[in-house]
Amino acid sequence: MREGQSFFFAVSATLLVVAVLILLPVILPWMLILAAIKTLLRRRVAKSFRCLRCGAVLGAESLRLADAEDRRQMDEFFRDHPGVKPRRFRTLHAVCAVCGQHYQYLEVTRTFAIRRAADTADDGGE
Ligand SMILES: [Zn+2]
Repeated sequence: MREGQSFFFAVSATLLVVAVLILLPVILPWMLILAAIKTLLRRRVAKSFRCLRCGAVLGAESLRLADAEDRRQMDEFFRDHPGVKPRRFRTLHAVCAVCGQHYQYLEVTRTFAIRRAADTADDGGE
């Protein structure tokens, strides 16, 4: 690498770091707001979505059950694989409180879909 190029990359990297530091007070709250909106939308859909297996309305309880199940699976993963950082995409978003059916929330269509068996096996990813 020539001297001019390394200077260019050093200046670019510095400007990028400065830009991120300046924008962080804007980016961080915006990301938190977006996450809150996604949670509210998912909760709203759950309140009107009927379980495809038993017909019960999922409701907020199904989201709490899914969070608890996800936490349990992650605890189990960390216990079984100490020091390993999991790489995964969460696919369990609701658990029917009546029959236990697992659902994945599809953001694009804003609905729940039955979680496939393959997704279940991938949880806790490696
Ligand atoms: Zn059900």
